[in-house]
Amino acid sequence: MKYDVIIIGAGPGGIFAAYELMQKRADLKVAVFEAGNALNKRRCPIDGDKVKSCVRCKSCSIMSGFGGAGAFSDGKYNITNDFGGTLYEYIGKKKALELMRYVDEINLRHGGEGTKLYTTAGSRFKTICIQNDLHLLDASVRHLGTDINFIVLENLYAYLKERVDFFFNTPVQSVRCVDGGYEVICGDEVHECRNCIVSVGRSGSKWMETVCRDLEIPTKSNRVDIGVRVELPAAVFAHLTDELYESKIVYRTEKYGDRVRTFCMNPRGAVVSENTNGIITVNGHSYEDPARQTENTNFALLVAKHFSEPFKDSNGYGESIARLSNMLGGGVIVQRFGDLIRGRRSTASRIEEAFITPTMNATPGDLSLVLPKRILDGIIEMIYALDKVAPGTANEDTLLYGVEVKFYNMEVEVNEKLESRHEGLYIIGDGSGITHSLSHASASGVHVARDIAERI
Ligand SMILES: Cc1cc2nc3c(=O)[nH]c(=O)nc-3n(C[C@H](O)[C@H](O)[C@H](O)COP(=O)(O)OP(=O)(O)OC[C@H]3O[C@@H](n4cnc5c(N)ncnc54)[C@H](O)[C@@H]3O)c2cc1C
Repeated sequence: MKYDVIIIGAGPGGIFAAYELMQKRADLKVAVFEAGNALNKRRCPIDGDKVKSCVRCKSCSIMSGFGGAGAFSDGKYNITNDFGGTLYEYIGKKKALELMRYVDEINLRHGGEGTKLYTTAGSRFKTICIQNDLHLLDASVRHLGTDINFIVLENLYAYLKERVDFFFNTPVQSVRCVDGGYEVICGDEVHECRNCIVSVGRSGSKWMETVCRDLEIPTKSNRVDIGVRVELPAAVFAHLTDELYESKIVYRTEKYGDRVRTFCMNPRGAVVSENTNGIITVNGHSYEDPARQTENTNFALLVAKHFSEPFKDSNGYGESIARLSNMLGGGVIVQRFGDLIRGRRSTASRIEEAFITPTMNATPGDLSLVLPKRILDGIIEMIYALDKVAPGTANEDTLLYGVEVKFYNMEVEVNEKLESRHEGLYIIGDGSGITHSLSHASASGVHVARDIAERI
């Protein structure tokens, strides 16, 4: 066997698996295969000037390359079992938190020192939220910011490239089980290894499905989160974001009893588009450096849709809704909350007249033509509920960008080591359907690396 371990995907899961392997067993021969570019070559062509919207690159620099989907993320590192994945169901709550804290320390040693750790513990907002039928989830969140997050990745790469073989722009086509290990096939080349860690994230979700089919690894899939990204003046949420940075607030709607939640809050940040398998959806980020901050705060409002038998294609459902917005708006649609409530589309002049400047160039339109009624009703109810704890949320000029979809990879059957039914084949990070965040994905990488280091 040429390699002791091959890692597929250089997102946080893959990076921390490689890092921990080198910490525990520097003698092992490890390779990382990544479909996207090296960090210094990752560049999204949208410059807001010549290129204003997504041009659908073959490999999306936002989602792929060293650092994975997390490279240009806000670097909100949440240390919690309350959201961000269900890693604790496999490895236990205590261990999951320990691993998340361990990765946090590594990030601090690689450029993240001095960044702030916010916590909801003892926050007065918990009471204020409950009094208004809203529920603030518990978490500690380290805000690295897009800029520091990038520096941490640069430093981790500098450490790893001396010890591990990296193959960029090398998408893996398939994985074959052979005697004593695995064959990893990239174009005409076949690479052999004793252990294989698959960490392909959300961008690798379709590929993951084929691998599971080929290797007969059982999967289940039944969830997709659909909603909008809200953008409003930073002052509206400043009392919450200054103390907590990110508040994950959950609301149960009166009308249908559905749960709506805030997600990925970016104080003084920017709204961005995201290309997942050719479908343009919306996301957001923010910088730690005050010079790069904006006057707006953005966050997602999402409704979780769980499907029951016989329907299995929850991601397909989310994609169809995103495609509708892409069809009507050529990409992301933006609408003023006031226009939505009045049942009229937003136009370029209505957006221009608003007392808020959008941070993203989206097409003014009508989200009620895109989002299913039940989801839209839930979002509107939640906006009015949030208005009670952050007055101004339900203002006419509050901007809603759509659609935001959180695709969940189907959940792959793995054991407590995150090992599939094939010995030595591990499936981790967002690609496993178990994690949905930087912290859980990174922690899953450390977990499998320790298992392999002990076993070999
Ligand atoms: C804009 C944005 C902002 C975000 N902000 C936050 C945040 O603030 N906090 C947070 O916790 N989470 C955030 N997230 C989510 C977070 O980035 C992911 O949860 C995390 O990156 C998952 O890590 P991963 O290693 O599992 O997968 P990924 O980071 O998706 O990495 C997977 C890698 O595998 C590669 N790959 C895929 N298929 C193949 C193949 N066949 N062969 C070779 N390589 C392949 C991909 O190119 C990719 O680089 C954000 C995501 C986005 C897109």
